[in-house]
Amino acid sequence: MITIEHAGCIFCVGCSSVCPANAIEAVGTRMKHYPEKCIDCGLCAKVCPANVITLHKGVKDPCQAKAHQGHAAPKGAVK
Ligand code: SF4
Ligand code: SF4
Repeated sequence: MITIEHAGCIFCVGCSSVCPANAIEAVGTRMKHYPEKCIDCGLCAKVCPANVITLHKGVKDPCQAKAHQGHAAPKGAVK
């Protein structure tokens, strides 16, 4: 699966147009990703002009992808 840093997305929909698995689509004013459809090809990350897509090969669970990305747990979540 991939993760998208939505704050930096310029909504060009390039990722959606190259995705061979239809795993990204524009929903409202955001790009939505469907991890269950993603085949981890990395094309979307390659074409993103804003460089806001990160590929997490072999990961299907968004929580796992966050850990993979090295995101810290929210403050005060675990003591
Ligand atoms: S990695 Fe490939 S299959 Fe997955 S969302 Fe990106 S373009 Fe689509
Ligand atoms: S290619 Fe990048 S900038 Fe363009 S819509 Fe997708 S995530 Fe946003």
